[in-house]
Amino acid sequence: MGRAELGQLIDRGALDASGGSQGRLSLAVPAAWARDGAGIEISVPARICCARCDGGGCDSCDRSGAHRAPAESAARTLRLSLPADLTGCVTVRLVRPFGEHAPLEQLLVELRADTAASPGVLRVPPPPSSATARSRAARGPLLGAPLSAPAVLATLAAIAAVVGLLLSR
Ligand SMILES: [Zn+2]
Repeated sequence: MGRAELGQLIDRGALDASGGSQGRLSLAVPAAWARDGAGIEISVPARICCARCDGGGCDSCDRSGAHRAPAESAARTLRLSLPADLTGCVTVRLVRPFGEHAPLEQLLVELRADTAASPGVLRVPPPPSSATARSRAARGPLLGAPLSAPAVLATLAAIAAVVGLLLSR
């Protein structure tokens, strides 16, 4: 029994859980990205293969074999945190990936470790550690608390008023 069959079994379990529309995306991701704790940003194609019929056409996809993602590319850009261990094939199930009002109910993202990422897949660096954030805060102004945004705006408004007076002479 190979890895591909295991992936299909995971898919079938997900299919049983819901009767709604389901799309599938198969992506290659470098295993090193997962080990680094990085995430990925996926530019989902406008047409997503129907997971129920594998593109053959069924009731849930109106016999088209595919589901539509939102037209705007920003609306179909998804972020995903990678499982730390990406050996073999891992299927991640996303519920309502494009929001409550989009027709697609679920998106199954099949991730497989490879030497290069699939087109449309970008690495998202892991969040900076809290130690980095602390050292950044320590390098703030030496005297007193840092100026708040309203204080800066008030100062700018005062300067603008003076400049206005000078120009009106
Ligand atoms: Zn279908």
